[in-house]
Amino acid sequence: GADTPALEISGLRKCYGPVTAVDDISFTVPRGSTTALLGGNGAGKTTTIAMVLGLVTPTAGSLHALGYDLETERRQANALMNFESPYVDMPMRLTVRENLTVYARLYGLSHVRERVRAIADDLALTEFLDRPSGKLSAGQKTRVGLAKALINEPELLLLDEPTASLDPDTADWVRSYFEAYKARTGATILLASHNMGEVERLADSVLMMTRGRIVDRGSPADLLARYGRTNMEEVFL
Ligand code: ATP
Repeated sequence: GADTPALEISGLRKCYGPVTAVDDISFTVPRGSTTALLGGNGAGKTTTIAMVLGLVTPTAGSLHALGYDLETERRQANALMNFESPYVDMPMRLTVRENLTVYARLYGLSHVRERVRAIADDLALTEFLDRPSGKLSAGQKTRVGLAKALINEPELLLLDEPTASLDPDTADWVRSYFEAYKARTGATILLASHNMGEVERLADSVLMMTRGRIVDRGSPADLLARYGRTNMEEVFL
């Protein structure tokens, strides 16, 4: 129900043979808030998000999203989630319209054509709908990625380093977009980032991760006071 947290994670662990990627983490993300997983390379951010999405099976622990147990009620939860990840490429021969249509159908949306038109309009992609995705600029490709992530109007949005590979102007545009998106929709976001400035702009609370563990937590202001205005790689690596 709507009174449960958007995300409840307890005792979560993932081991790959001798490597412990995620080491017994627990946290809750309240509905309508943005929580950041802040940490450098190998901290376990991507593995955590992959377990929420069902791409990686936990070694131990429990996950609940939007009131659903992700072990037994995965399908119901996944319909209400979506994600953006630089690790997921889109088929470059498909047009923007085709790419967005694939996602709309994957999510079982009704009124697919109207939904594709509406999300394209929202992300200033209307004039590019019939262009092959491979012929777009970097900024336009980024906007298609966001359109795919938002096409089902997710209640829980998982963002894995959403600006990591972007030029500074596009990264700034993406951060502004999500600021406005949060205010407009009240959606919940789990954001993996290594960038304190990004976290400060978007997050209500921060979980600082290193080597698979949550080593500190607080508001962005708390962490700024403790560690300064720096990228977290510089703090921990
Ligand atoms: P990055 O930003 O570099 O992706 P991250 O915080 O997202 O960092 P993870 O990708 O979750 O970190 O990786 C955490 C640790 O788990 C790393 O030491 C990584 O090498 C290891 N790891 C992740 N996936 C696998 C895998 N499939 N097999 C073996 N080890 C893995």
